[in-house]
Amino acid sequence: MTGQLHAPLDLSPGEEPRFSLNRRLNGSQSQSGHFGEEKNLHLPGFKSILYYTILYYTILYCTILYCTILCYTILYCTILYCTILYNTALYCNILYYTILYYTILYYTILNPGEIKVGVNSLKSLHGGVLIETNSIEEIEVLGKEIQTKCGGELETHIHRLRKPRVIILNVPEDINADNIEEAIIRQNPDLNLMKGSIVPKFTYVTKRMHRNAVVEVGSETRKTLTHRKIKLGWQICRTDDYITATRCFNCSKFNHRTIECRGEVTCPLCAGPHNLKECKSDPTAHKCTNCETYNRHNPTKKVSANHSALDKGCPSLQTILERNRLNTEY
Ligand SMILES: [Zn+2]
Ligand SMILES: [Zn+2]
Ligand SMILES: [Zn+2]
Repeated sequence: MTGQLHAPLDLSPGEEPRFSLNRRLNGSQSQSGHFGEEKNLHLPGFKSILYYTILYYTILYCTILYCTILCYTILYCTILYCTILYNTALYCNILYYTILYYTILYYTILNPGEIKVGVNSLKSLHGGVLIETNSIEEIEVLGKEIQTKCGGELETHIHRLRKPRVIILNVPEDINADNIEEAIIRQNPDLNLMKGSIVPKFTYVTKRMHRNAVVEVGSETRKTLTHRKIKLGWQICRTDDYITATRCFNCSKFNHRTIECRGEVTCPLCAGPHNLKECKSDPTAHKCTNCETYNRHNPTKKVSANHSALDKGCPSLQTILERNRLNTEY
């Protein structure tokens, strides 16, 4: 048995002498205390409990964070992979059908020479082929031939031209969509028009308070009706082709309506970023947004843009009207 004695060397008056005794019994037991009655217990300190608690929660938090990041990464990669796979499949599908169409049309089954059809152009179009010929008759022959020989493989759709529209100027008050066809046929027997050949579309009143009527007709009826005078009620009315271009009230561009507009508000008078009512520009400062756009895309073939987009002589408007004329079955 060994013993160690620690005793304070200097004692204040009245202070009890204390010491600590550590006894080692066979190296396995230790006991400490001071004279006679108290024992010193080794309890974990408050600081170490706090330390371990913080450490535990930190590790827990980091683990959860790591797992979450891992889950999201896996999810993101899966979505990305599926998207790429889907797009690749779609692209391959389109490519496959385009090649198939070309192969069938060009080399194997159809010969435009045999069926007497002149093909103006052949273009790839969204997984199909667009074929242009000189006339509707030729395209109908070609369509029938494709249906007969490759109906199982190919589907045809004939893009038909618009029916011509005719404007009848200065019609009487009592003429409306319900009676205009009958009135034209009855009062103009020399035209030899059949019932059903005129489809009334609408009537409108001009700023000069003239009432005009617009009707849709076939190619033959158009030739009979236009550029002449017809009798309606007590009046003799002039007729003309009715060709218009749709112009957006918001962006002043052609071929879409205001509710379909995705453009910025553009003034039709000065091409500024405001609407027509707010325009304060001088007529000499008018600029056409459509002709400016055309000039940006065609720097070598510029046209004058010093006019408003409402100008009837606007080169851009004339181009649109010409295109609409070509898309009409005259
Ligand atoms: Zn627009
Ligand atoms: Zn303006
Ligand atoms: Zn213009």
